[in-house]
Amino acid sequence: MKHFNIFIDGQWIGEDLEKIDVINPATSEVVATVPNAGKKEAEHAIASAYRAFSEWSSLSAYERSEYIRQWYDLINEHQDELAKTMTVEQGKPLKEALGEIGYANGFLSWYAEEAKRIYGELIPATSQNKRLFVQKQPVGVVAVITPWNFPAAMITRKVAPALAAGCTVMIKPAEQTPLTAIKLVELAEKAGIPKGVINIVTGNAEKIGDAWLQDERVRKLTFTGSTEVGRLLMQKASKTIKKLSLELGGHAPVIILDDANIEKAVTEVIAAKFRNAGQTCVCANRIYVHDSVYESFLQKFKNKVSELVVGNGLEEGVDIGPLIDKHAVKKVIDQIEDAVGKGAVLETGGKVINDLFIEPTVLSNVEDDMLCMMEETFGPVAPVTRFSSEEEVIKRANNSIFGLAAYIFTESISKGIRISEALDYGIIGLNDGLPSTPQAPFGGFKQSGLGREGGYHGIEEYLEVKYISLGI
Ligand code: ADP
Repeated sequence: MKHFNIFIDGQWIGEDLEKIDVINPATSEVVATVPNAGKKEAEHAIASAYRAFSEWSSLSAYERSEYIRQWYDLINEHQDELAKTMTVEQGKPLKEALGEIGYANGFLSWYAEEAKRIYGELIPATSQNKRLFVQKQPVGVVAVITPWNFPAAMITRKVAPALAAGCTVMIKPAEQTPLTAIKLVELAEKAGIPKGVINIVTGNAEKIGDAWLQDERVRKLTFTGSTEVGRLLMQKASKTIKKLSLELGGHAPVIILDDANIEKAVTEVIAAKFRNAGQTCVCANRIYVHDSVYESFLQKFKNKVSELVVGNGLEEGVDIGPLIDKHAVKKVIDQIEDAVGKGAVLETGGKVINDLFIEPTVLSNVEDDMLCMMEETFGPVAPVTRFSSEEEVIKRANNSIFGLAAYIFTESISKGIRISEALDYGIIGLNDGLPSTPQAPFGGFKQSGLGREGGYHGIEEYLEVKYISLGI
């Protein structure tokens, strides 16, 4: 059994700690172990990141950029191995894992460049004997807490802009998927990134999180995960007024208008719904189809969904891997049963196979009072419902505490823009099922979170604004 250690202050340590199993959800086999670290190691990581901060932040942007670029090159070289590790611990099909490594690495290449564009300003003063300067400085030590659904991208999307800005980090990956994260950090070490700049700790989430949130030296928390945990961390972070970036839950509506290109809508909705077996926070969660195209969309959609292949992500041709664990399966099955119990029609799928696999499922005749229309599903279930007017569908789509992603399908530019503007969502896929990309801002309205990741917006989250008023 392979054991992976944690990395603090340039040292791989934790051999002496209790071990946690990492399980392949496709086979239920234990594939490796990692240390069950707690408060002590978490505090050690803070001290390390804090010490490294002054040197890292005083490097020139060009020097930091070069390190990030080296890391990028190594990830590229090792992409097959990283993707395989990801599939084994997380379950997604290998082709998707490889896609995620490319996407994750896109943040390194983007922010290696963006590091050089942290510009200041010179503001016109009201008198001739003053000059008003604004410059940007790194926030400081950053705590990074990530989920299991994107074991690589959720790390680089945070760590790349943090490093580019001049911050140092401590990472706590999800307990289900620490291996991809550890391998990324091994490559960061190989890239020569100075010791203490990146630290990674696996183990007890609450003990590690609490140690980081209580400490005054940690100036920011960047978190992706559930709204419930986000709310708790926000409360804990309030004691020391930490800066926060929170990427939380979603409940994405899809709106298919009467003039949509149905073939395209089917392809894009499948991509938006079934990627990662439906376990992404931007996954299509509720599909509203205009009365006049409802039947034709449903027929085509259901036929295509029933062709999706379920299986171990390492096997060729698999589209849908296992869900992450039993709780995830239960939540999805509860939603299907609730919907069918209240009158929804099971068009395809609906069954559990071998513990953690769920057949890709389409439900029709869905009503807004069903659980699947109110709660995030995080599984391969597509509920389809009808609407008759633009006004009605906007109201129903906005009726959620979440506001992360929404999708619209129409061939009319003006309708598309009008509805995009009316939706209370941070990301709109207009005739596009996969809008996420490193150079664009990703983030939510309402209880889907705070701040943006990606693009030039993403680096601002790791920068303080300093105003210098010069009397001359
Ligand atoms: P999910 O439902 O996707 O597993 P969670 O919000 O539970 O999402 O987990 C996201 C990340 O937050 C994981 O790394 C998890 O270990 C961490 N986490 C969960 N609870 C806490 C906590 N009380 N303090 C700090 N981190 C936590």
